[in-house]
Formats: sequence, C-alpha cells, structure tokens
Amino acid sequence: MFKLAVLPGDGIGQEVTEHALKVLTAVKTKYDLALTYRLGLIGGKAIDEIGDPFPQETQELVAQSDAVFLGAVGGPKWDSPEKKVRPEQGLLAIRKALRLYANLRPVQCWPQLIEQSPFKKEKIEGVNLLIVRELTGGAYFGARGTEIKNGERKAFDTIEYSAEEIRRLVKVAFKLAGQRRKKLTSVDKANILETSRLWRKIVLEEAANYPEITLNHLYVDNCAMQLCLNPGQFDVLATENTFGDILSDQASVLGGSLGMLPSASIGDGPALYEPVHGSAPDIAGQNKANPLAAILSVAMMLRISLSCFEAALAIEKAVGRVLEQGLRTADIWAPGCIRVGTSALVDAVIKELN
Ligand code: NAD
Repeated sequence: MFKLAVLPGDGIGQEVTEHALKVLTAVKTKYDLALTYRLGLIGGKAIDEIGDPFPQETQELVAQSDAVFLGAVGGPKWDSPEKKVRPEQGLLAIRKALRLYANLRPVQCWPQLIEQSPFKKEKIEGVNLLIVRELTGGAYFGARGTEIKNGERKAFDTIEYSAEEIRRLVKVAFKLAGQRRKKLTSVDKANILETSRLWRKIVLEEAANYPEITLNHLYVDNCAMQLCLNPGQFDVLATENTFGDILSDQASVLGGSLGMLPSASIGDGPALYEPVHGSAPDIAGQNKANPLAAILSVAMMLRISLSCFEAALAIEKAVGRVLEQGLRTADIWAPGCIRVGTSALVDAVIKELN
C-alpha cells in the first residue's frame, strides 16, 4: 500500500490540495490504485495550532510515508519582521528532513493557452521541457559573511560542490532524459567558475553510461537567452542551485501562468510534490485559484513515485480536454473563453477522467 502524506499548508494551498485529492480519489478508483493518505500540518497553520511550522507529528508522518503532497505555505498573517517563527521555515525543514536534492520543474506550452502567452506563437509551439535543479548545494548553502576591510564594508558568499553532489543530480537528469526525448542540456559557467568545471567533468563522465542520450553544454547566460529565442530546442536541462532557481522562473513564463506549473523534489527517500505557486493570499478563499498546477503535481507523483503512467497520462489528457472546452480560471482567462471558479474547473477535470 502506497502511503501519502498530504500537507495542505496555507491560503490557496488548502484549496488546491483539497481539489487535487478529489482528482487523486477519482483516479484511485478508476485505476484501482493501492494508495492511502493522511493529512498533516505545515506552515502558518501549524504555527497557529502547535507553535512550530514543521511539528513533530508532521515529521513522523512524512518519515512513515512513501511520498508527500504539499499545497503552499505562508501569508501576511505570519509575515511581520518581528515574528521569529515563520511558515517558510517549515518548507526548508521538510526539504532538509527528506534530503531532497533534485527539483524537477516541467514546463509545457499548452496549445490551448498559446494565444495568451507574451511569446510569439511560433516560438513556443510544442515547448515541453524539464528543468532539473540541484537543491542542496552551491551558493545558497556555502559559507557567507560580512566584514569591514580597510574601512570598507564587504560581503561574500561561496559556491561549493562535491563531485558526488553533482553526480547524483546528473544521474537523475540523464535517467529522466531517457524517459523523454533523450536530450540533455547541461548548464554551467565553466568558462569562469571552478565548480562549473567540475560539474562539466562529472557530466561527461556520466554521459558514458547513457550513450542513448544526446548531450550538449550551454553557459548559463547563453541558456537564458536561448530559453527566450528558441525554447523548443530543449528537452531536459540540468543545472546547479542558483542557475536553476533563476532559469526555472524564467522558463515558467512559457507555461502561461504560475497556476499551471507542477513540481517534484526528489532525494533518496520519499519525494515531495507541490505546485510551483505560493499561497496567493490575494485570492485565497474566493474560489479563484487555478487548481491545475496541483492536479498536474498529482500526475507527476503517479508517474515518478508510483510508476502509474496510464493514470498520470489520463490526468494530463483530462486537463488538456478541459482547456480545450474553453474553461478557464481568471489567471488563464482570455476573451472567448468561459470564466469558471476553482471547483467548476476541478469538476470538469473529474468528469473528463470518468
Ligand atoms: P504566489 O505564488 O502566492 O502569488 C503570486 C501571484 O500569482 C499572485 O497574484 C497570485 O494570486 C497568483 N497566483 C499564484 N498561484 C495562483 C493560482 N494557482 N491560481 C491563480 N493565481 C495564482 O507568490 P507570492 O504572492 O510572492 O507569495 C505569497 C505567499 O506564498 C508568501 O507568504 C510566500 O512566502 C509564499 N510562497 C510559498 C511558496 C511555497 O509554499 N512553495 C512558494 C512561493 C511563495
């Protein structure tokens, strides 16, 4: 029996999780999946109820689970600078507890939403890429500090990577490329940075184990440009933490809305699935949130953690058909489409699934 920990979190995290669970229940019945789930607290709600954004109960729940589904955390209620305990600490703590080292962000240009894109149609038609970002190393975790030298204020951050940290990430990227269009772009800054030179060496070493994958290397600045000029050239991109953070936000524009972007973070234990967006306090509780990022995160979970490819594809196809019908939440609405709320969009997805 596959055990799932479900952590709705705050704001629209609670709404989209509730709806994603309805979709999960529908596929569970249809495909006879041996899956059970339990709910837990994280983020602001956990602070309110227990005083800890990642309480002991939740730590135990995730430790006993095969995967975790998370809505989103945070909101103005917990934002004031004097607050020492903040919802985002729960997010960092769970990533650390699960030792999640690879963040996967697929971005696809849905043909049904192409007209709303800020990009020209011919540039983004058919775009379907996956960014694999290293999540536990690099500048975000390196030594940092400030000092006064010769009377001048200075600050420094350091980037560090071990060969093994790079290798485990690169292996994930090669494997995923093998399940897709068999093309991997490794992104670095090997003309300047020592860590990037090590990165490139490890990528080349690992490439020997994946002869079926076509590999190319891009410097990160060129990659940023190529993502705008010709995003259709990419299948899987593998990169280090900081580059991946920036490139994945840049690439997310290709997907049309934050409300369309699922994600997964994987490590050696249970993986974590979550929509890319935050808790969107501006629209929380108004039945306005786009639930599709959360629903597509369920599809990612079915594919990656349960190897239920048929059920995952069924969800993605149902989402496509609903978009085809012109049903849209406000974030993806365009003239000529039918504006609906969160619940109506989810009902339509479930109807298509059944
Ligand atoms: P956000 O992603 O919550 O919202 C940004 C904008 O996008 C808002 O205008 C929002 O209405 C819109 N939006 C986001 N998701 C949407 C959806 N599904 N449907 C329709 N519109 C959607 O980012 P923010 O406003 O910078 O952050 C709000 C809170 O969320 C903060 O407390 C932040 O720390 C937190 N946050 C949490 C996560 C997470 O839990 N993984 C990620 C990002 C931000």
